Amino acid sequence: MSSANGTANGDVYRSKRSEMDERTIPPLGMTGQRFVDAATSSARGIEQYYANLSTRPVLPSISPGYLQELLAGKAPEHGESWSDIEKDIETAIMPGLTHWQHPKFMAFFPATTTFPSMLGEMWSAALSAPAFNWICSPVITELETVVMDWLAQMLDLPESFLSKGKGGGVIQLSASDTILTVMVAARERFIRRQLAREGVTELEDIEDRSCEIRAKLVALGTDQAHSSTRKAATVAGTRFRTVPVHHSDLYALKGYELRKKIEELHNKGLHPYYLTVTLGTTNTCAVDDFDSIAGVAKDYPDIWIHCDAAYAGSALILPEYRHLSRQMSVVDSFNFNMHKWLLVNFDASCLYVQKRRDLTDTLSITPAYLKNQFSDSGLVTDYRDWQIPLGRRFRSLKIWFVIRTFGVGGLQGYVRHGIKLGNLFADLVRSRSDLFSILTPPAFGLTVFTVNPAKKHRLKLENDGDGADPRPDQDRHIPVKPEAERPELEQANEITKEVFEIIERKREFFLTSTLVGAVYAIRVVSTNPLAEEQYLRQIFDVLVDAAEGVLLKRPSAQTNGPSE
Ligand code: PLP
Repeated sequence: MSSANGTANGDVYRSKRSEMDERTIPPLGMTGQRFVDAATSSARGIEQYYANLSTRPVLPSISPGYLQELLAGKAPEHGESWSDIEKDIETAIMPGLTHWQHPKFMAFFPATTTFPSMLGEMWSAALSAPAFNWICSPVITELETVVMDWLAQMLDLPESFLSKGKGGGVIQLSASDTILTVMVAARERFIRRQLAREGVTELEDIEDRSCEIRAKLVALGTDQAHSSTRKAATVAGTRFRTVPVHHSDLYALKGYELRKKIEELHNKGLHPYYLTVTLGTTNTCAVDDFDSIAGVAKDYPDIWIHCDAAYAGSALILPEYRHLSRQMSVVDSFNFNMHKWLLVNFDASCLYVQKRRDLTDTLSITPAYLKNQFSDSGLVTDYRDWQIPLGRRFRSLKIWFVIRTFGVGGLQGYVRHGIKLGNLFADLVRSRSDLFSILTPPAFGLTVFTVNPAKKHRLKLENDGDGADPRPDQDRHIPVKPEAERPELEQANEITKEVFEIIERKREFFLTSTLVGAVYAIRVVSTNPLAEEQYLRQIFDVLVDAAEGVLLKRPSAQTNGPSE
């Protein structure tokens, strides 16, 4: 039975419980019934937001600083009612939103969310507990272990990443976080091994020698690796060097280039200790060549290899990508973001390691106040030892809700749908090969293309027929030759940029552009949960209009008819 304020335990929410209690607002902010009303109204508002999302503009049209003008300059002295607060969602918050879930949002990579994921967030907030040690709330640790093992099996990762062996998974904030975490662990693992080789055992000697070794360490990534690797190296206080990748290799890291870079660094007296390899680069969704990298890795076991699969890792849920899952046996750690493509909202970055001790040997520091009988027993996991911060959120709940709501089959269907839409868009682009050139094979729902300059300035095109494509959904493509002569390339870049800027000014769709090597290109991503064929056809028509308009305006304009 509910009491007057809506709960069987109304006392819990009442504001004044004794004479010494001066609080005027209920301790949880509202009475139980008010909370139920507010939550119901919020759920209705969220449902309506999604029902009508496609009618809103995808991009905001406010000017910088708009919110300062709308909101009071000082916090309210007295508490306000939920109905007053809620009104401002439409008037103050919505105008400043870029709608990432909008079907016309085709920029960056998606940041997915779903209703079960939102419910997970709500429960997680309700049960707020920074479960750094197992005893802080055993279920928070145990559910995390269970869902991370489920996911590893869903992605068909090698068994060594499962918690039943020496490895395991942990949920972190973002891919950048995971890269920093493993890089620090890699740095210290390298130093520990070097100290052991040198037989350094005295405490002060260990510190002194560690500093000397640290000064010679180099983290590696390709020039297509996400900027988070460079940033992590800055935070970790070591050098960062890039390994070149080539257009002719579809921007995949090859073993021969890696070996060359390692040898070059060794010759300078430096020690490469960490490498980011990528499964699905941000620019073009390139997949590094794990087989040839494995050949090098076996000669340099002190280099920690981390696979950044932030976006495309979700595709491993499909049997057609399993050949990539198997190749993960070469890496020490692997990470993918469920919040990019697998229907869980930010933050849900899943990090796996083959040997959890590689993390805990560096990150486990236990002052007296963190000690407890369960941690001491060695029978439980304390995830604080697998990450940099101490406290952590109950993130596994939303993952659990999403996996249970969709089932593996439902998640596979969703991922496959996004890839199919990407292929459809790529086919549209191909159908106007007089106007557009696809730069790299469309993959994982990403198409990267350039606008062809007028005939006079057209870049040389070449057929790329060599080498097996690691991605199963590909056919042959006609890339722009990035090594084209400078004026030719500049002309091509200018035209693609002009077309992109027309789309940008119109603000009807949100796309991003990028520089791949020296080539300016437009990216279209089709894996937003609300993406639909009609919107991909619309953006294609808008691009065609823009490209034709730009080419017509040019004095030397001369388009070719669609090529055979
Ligand atoms: N790695 C890759 C391949 C990415 O595409 C991105 C972002 O798009 C990141 C890392 C960084 O992701 P996060 O925002 O989770 O740090």
